Amino acid sequence: MTERKVPLRTCVGCRGVKEKSELIRIVRTPEGEIRTDLSGKAAGRGAYLCPQRGCLELAIKKGGFARSLHMTLTAEQTENLRRELKEFEERDP
Ligand SMILES: [Zn+2]
Repeated sequence: MTERKVPLRTCVGCRGVKEKSELIRIVRTPEGEIRTDLSGKAAGRGAYLCPQRGCLELAIKKGGFARSLHMTLTAEQTENLRRELKEFEERDP
């Protein structure tokens, strides 16, 4: 008998717990940049988010990123995330 452990992560938006593979990783790089990390392997502090606009907005509104990434996102970084998530949604229907 084999037991397969599925890694679980909490979405910083809706706070729902999901399999890591269902979420996208947002990383704060050592240079202080914020970007989506589709490989899941980039160095830096990470936060996980459902690939949905609604969860992104919730995370921005409720300070989920600030809590997970230990920084406050600038307006520019917020816009970048919105754009990257939109691209992600369009790429993966
Ligand atoms: Zn979510």
